[in-house]
Amino acid sequence: MANVDADVLIIGGGIGGLTLAAIVRRLGLSCKVLERTEVLSPVGAGISLAPNALALLDQIGIYQDILKTAQPLKTIQITRNDTLWQKLDFSTCEATFGYPVLSAERHNFHRLLYNAAGGEETVILNSKVTNIIDDPNSSVVTVVVDGGKELRGRLVIGADGIRSVTRRILAGSADDKAANTIKFTGRVHMSGITAPLKNCGKEELGVANWLLYDDSILTTWPCIENRQWFIGVMKADSAPRDRSVWAGTTPDMIKDVYGEKFHPFAESKKFSEIVDQSERVLASNVFAEVEFPSMSKGRVALVGDAAHSMTSFFGQGACQAIEDAAVLGNLLNEWVVAPKADFNKFTHKDLSLMLYEYSERRKQRVQDLAKFSADFARLHTANLPFGLGPLVRKLVYSYVPSWVWIWYLRWLYGVQPTVAGLKDLSEKKAGSTTN
Ligand SMILES: Cc1cc2nc3c(=O)[nH]c(=O)nc-3n(C[C@H](O)[C@H](O)[C@H](O)COP(=O)(O)OP(=O)(O)OC[C@H]3O[C@@H](n4cnc5c(N)ncnc54)[C@H](O)[C@@H]3O)c2cc1C
Repeated sequence: MANVDADVLIIGGGIGGLTLAAIVRRLGLSCKVLERTEVLSPVGAGISLAPNALALLDQIGIYQDILKTAQPLKTIQITRNDTLWQKLDFSTCEATFGYPVLSAERHNFHRLLYNAAGGEETVILNSKVTNIIDDPNSSVVTVVVDGGKELRGRLVIGADGIRSVTRRILAGSADDKAANTIKFTGRVHMSGITAPLKNCGKEELGVANWLLYDDSILTTWPCIENRQWFIGVMKADSAPRDRSVWAGTTPDMIKDVYGEKFHPFAESKKFSEIVDQSERVLASNVFAEVEFPSMSKGRVALVGDAAHSMTSFFGQGACQAIEDAAVLGNLLNEWVVAPKADFNKFTHKDLSLMLYEYSERRKQRVQDLAKFSADFARLHTANLPFGLGPLVRKLVYSYVPSWVWIWYLRWLYGVQPTVAGLKDLSEKKAGSTTN
């Protein structure tokens, strides 16, 4: 019988890794998450969580807690410079899909996932993975951590984000830059979360803003206590820094780009006022997958950004990482838990087939989402062929009514993978499908 540290070793304690850990534990299998940072410090200010991810978060028992620091989206106001184009009614989302679109504070959400994953019992901090050895003649996969420590698992899942070492190892070499098919998009995000805004009253609860300027765009999302989290996107001539997240971003850097722009919640109507009331700001380069390599090889698979980075214009990167985790959870249930199979008896070929099946179940959906995100980015930034961008954007954003948006989004929000066989901790029942 093989001696393992965990049935499932997960590399990366981000949204995908922690969600998967929460599922694996609830399936009654053992798991460890190896996270390179010394303290769990999620990057980012806020996050929007859509119905396609919320069903699973509900199933693992954290939906009600997320709601405590999130706001359901009711309205999206679309403004071109300082002219209001349209107010989209998103309040029907919950009635249509069982869940609303939520706008949540990111650190709190991450903490809830960490706890659901088993906290320090499961997550081993300060563990930067440097190598993975999947020898078909061995009954275990070995993960090597910086410093030389080795851990052994039956399956290894790389949830280690856009600079994934797992993905590079799967492609042949941890150092092979050519194997990196996630490319810089030429855009930079700037985001932050404000202190409670005094100009933001009850009527602004649940109101998001898409602000379209001549040279950039900005979206602001409602958070608890009249806070707003914002995310702006601007074009950069070249990658300003060779990093996904810029350490040392200051409010002044954001004000240099957006300071003079219109913002409805600022007394002066200038965005600089919002930045001045921000508690946290950061900037990050925007990357997107261009080739979609297989999401698995042997007994190793990828989830989340490591497999399918996409632009964040439609806020689906984390939601797709959560969907990945749900689908992987279903396969673990189908192959191991439901038939009460002995994990030890599976061969390298069996487990490779299981993970190949995962890759097959996920590939179309994530590629559709990445394409949709890229197309939506083009519409949102008015960047369409033949110079038609500004006209098409104006027509779509001014005249397409709310019910058409909600109806169109069925393909995305109507698919809500949950895990069969998982003890259902949800306090809210939705019409979800199992994938
Ligand atoms: C500004 C911005 C706003 C966004 N807004 C939204 C939104 O509203 N909604 C949405 O759904 N998505 C959004 N996204 C996308 C979302 O943040 C990502 O898709 C999501 O975080 C991906 O999760 P992940 O678990 O795959 O990777 P990550 O969250 O990046 O986690 C990867 C983890 O792996 C660790 N790691 C890396 N290398 C190693 C290693 N060698 N060994 C051990 N650990 C390692 C990292 O430290 C990190 O903790 C946004 C992205 C940005 C940049």
